Parts: sequence; C-alpha cells; structure tokens
Amino acid sequence: MKIVLCSSEVVPFAKTGGLADVAGALPIALEELGHEVIIAMPRYKEIQESRFKIQRAGKDVSYSILGRGIKVYFIENDKYFNRDGLYGDKKGDHKDNLERFSYYCKRTLELLKEINFSADVIHCNDWQTCLIPVYLKALYSMDAFYKNIKTILTIHNIGYQGLFPKEEFPKLGLDWSLFNIKALEYYNQINLLKGGMVFSDLLNTVSTAYSQEIQTKEFGFGLEGVLAERKESLFGILNGLDYSLWNPVQDELIAAKYSVRNIEDKYKNKRDLQKICGLPLKEDLPLLGIVSRLAEQKGFDILAEGIEKICKMDLQLVILGTGEEKYHLILEKIVKKYPKVISLHLKFDNTLAHKIYAGSDIFLMPSKYEPCGLGQLISFAYGTLPLVFKTGGLADTVTADNGFVFDKYSKGDLIKTVGKAVTAFANKKKWTALMVKGMGYNFSWKESAKSYIKLYEKAKSQ
Ligand code: ADP
Repeated sequence: MKIVLCSSEVVPFAKTGGLADVAGALPIALEELGHEVIIAMPRYKEIQESRFKIQRAGKDVSYSILGRGIKVYFIENDKYFNRDGLYGDKKGDHKDNLERFSYYCKRTLELLKEINFSADVIHCNDWQTCLIPVYLKALYSMDAFYKNIKTILTIHNIGYQGLFPKEEFPKLGLDWSLFNIKALEYYNQINLLKGGMVFSDLLNTVSTAYSQEIQTKEFGFGLEGVLAERKESLFGILNGLDYSLWNPVQDELIAAKYSVRNIEDKYKNKRDLQKICGLPLKEDLPLLGIVSRLAEQKGFDILAEGIEKICKMDLQLVILGTGEEKYHLILEKIVKKYPKVISLHLKFDNTLAHKIYAGSDIFLMPSKYEPCGLGQLISFAYGTLPLVFKTGGLADTVTADNGFVFDKYSKGDLIKTVGKAVTAFANKKKWTALMVKGMGYNFSWKESAKSYIKLYEKAKSQ
C-alpha cells in the first residue's frame, strides 16, 4: 500500500509532544510491514543541514530519510516556517497559523502530483493537517490523479482544534458555502479539526477508551455532536512506543544502561539525576519524575493545589516541562520554599527527559484527560512506576497491578495516592517485582501498525 503520513511534527526533526513520537515511529513500523510510506511536514527553522542529512527535491521542497528509505519531505517557505517555535512563542500562538498550515496542506497535495506518488491513503494528524481532506474533496477531486486517494484523520487531542476568526476564511481559498455548521463553521468561527472530522473518510483516536470518551459532552470539547454523526467511522488504535529510542538497555543519554538482569544499575541513574538536580543523594527516598507540558490537561491544576502537601512527604520531585505561564510561576514559588525536595526545569530537553525516566522511581502523570499518553509507556520500559488518574489511554494501560491509579479527579485523591506510592516504595521486594513487570511489557508499534493497515484497507474499500 502507498501511504502519505502528514504531521506538523516528526521525531527526530521537530517535536513538542507525543504527536512527533507517533509520526516518527509509525511510518517505520509500516515500512517494516512492507508498505511504501512518505512523510510531509513543514521545514521549520530548527531543521538544519548541520543536524540532518537533507537533500533537495525541488525549488521549495527538500527531504531527508527515515527508517530504511522513507522520504520525509519538508515543505519550505521562509515567511511561514523560518522562525522560532512550531506553533507559537512566549507571546502566544503565531498570528498567521491559519495561513501557515493551509499553505502546508495545499503544498503537500501538489507535491504528491509533482513526484507522482499515487497514494492509496493520506494519513492526517491533528488540526494542522485537517485542510488536506477538505482541499482534496473541495478542490482536487476533479483531477484524476487525486480521485481515488482516501483520507484518515487521527485525533491525538480533541482539546486543540485550530480555531480562527471567520474574517480569515478568504485566506483558505475555499468557497464560502463551506463556512456552515455541516463543514468548517463552529459558532461563527473557523474550526479546522471539525473540517477534518467531516471530510476525512475515516477517523481514529489513539486509544479505545479515548475514542469512546470524546463522544461524550465531558470530553468532546463541543465536537461530540459531529462525532455522533460519524460514529460508524470512528476507531481507536493505541499508540506504540519506539523501543529503539526508549530502551534502558541501549540508551546513550542515561548514566548507566540497565535491564531486568542488572536492575540495580537503575539506581546509578537515580544518583546521576539527583546530582544534576542538586538534590540530596538519598537512595531510600522515592524520587518522583514529571516530563510534561505544563497544562491543566496534564493535571497541573490539582497538582498546583496539592504540591505543598506532596513536598512535605518523604520524597523528591523532579519536574521538566514548559507551558502555561501561571504554572511556571506557581512552581517557581514552591521550589524556592522546598529547594531540597523539588528540582524544576522549565524547558524542553530530550536528554534530561531520558534521565528522568531512567532515574525516577515513580512517574507522575495525573492527566485530567489523556488520549493515549506516552509518558506512562516510557516509564514502564525504564522500570519507573506510573502514578496516573484513571482516564483515556492511562486507564487502558495502568492498573493497581503495575502502578498507582486514582479514579476521582481531585487534589485530595492525588495526594492520597502519592502517599500510597511512597509507602509502597519502602517494600523493596514488592517494588522490584512491579518494576520487572512493567519492563516486560511490549507496546511495540508492530501491532498498532497492523491495525492502521486494516484501517487504511477499510478506507480504500469504501
Ligand atoms: P502530549 O499530550 O504532550 O503529546 P504524550 O505523553 O503523548 O503527551 O507525549 C509527550 C512526549 O513529549 C513524551 O515523549 C515526553 O517525554 C515528551 N516531552 C514532554 N515535555 C517535554 C519536555 N519539556 N522536554 C522533553 N520532552 C518532553
């Protein structure tokens, strides 16, 4: 099968979150199953020749290779992409995001014809790519080259929809008739995710639980009605984990490599992390790690409320993340009060992320909602027990038998569960058994990739 994967971020070229992990790993798994895959993404400022082997594909398109021979095409446009920040900077979202991503979507479709890649399916991901199915049906379907191409949209997070003022609609180059509630309009605004949900042949989310949850008012972010109409076309496929990147046996970014056979070497990583973070070198204190966007979705509202009580327990806490300014401020304040307990790193840092997964005992991920979540899967691989709220992909993967789960979203329940984990940590034998269990899991992409192929085939047969 010939597949085009479209994503606004792809590991190792550009990443702000789990979308990039998925977009960098799924194509490789599809290629290993014998399919022909290409990827298209914007060429951001950070995609430089000094960091990657990049070749020219045309005047305004370049490419690099992923896996054995997957061409990753970079759509170039200095005005739109040669700047800091994928979607925004410290001041907020880039003001011209509608133009930036509509340009990317249109240019990607044109590129397919230029390179004569007669795709069976275009696999779109999140709002940044959602104009592809819209343009395909509205502008390109008369062209024989595009006529048989099917589209799949994966919704990685329905909380981010790509909303823009109605006044910007002419920039899309679409007929005003598409600005209606059956297409791109959402309460008098442009909603790109909605457009993708309406125009794609099939839809999926990144866990089964989340595919159910987003059909409810509580988790649908206003789009549950649109999904209700497309219920028959909506599926759930759990993300995998790229074990060539996330594996303590061969991780070059951590202080000491380890497996279940030399599991005690994990503690060398704990010491290394404590040293880097300026925390007391105490092996007996449970070390909790967080690697996350600092957003309410990730549980930072209840964490901010409960953190003082958590800091008073016998533990250490390392936080790596960037996000909402208010959480930066709250956390900075608390670190000043408890410098021997918390170490805070307000940045995006892949190396430190690896060190935290490897050096922590417990991975804290109290997300309010979580489409799939990769943090808990990574922490399993590193023998770090996840502590999560029971929702979405976290509910699908973490239980009381492999980690710690609370099922009422409140600061009280979070604090109680942290307390439980701290107590459990004292029982080394039981703890080690849980570590070994998690390290034995295999959330490999192979099975998920097979499910995606089935989905593509279903789209093709429609
Ligand atoms: P998201 O909703 O942000 O996509 P996921 O759990 O699916 O959440 O994936 C997050 C990914 O981004 C993981 O690979 C995680 O390690 C990484 N990550 C998040 N924040 C940071 C950060 N500040 N520095 C480095 N990596 C980060």
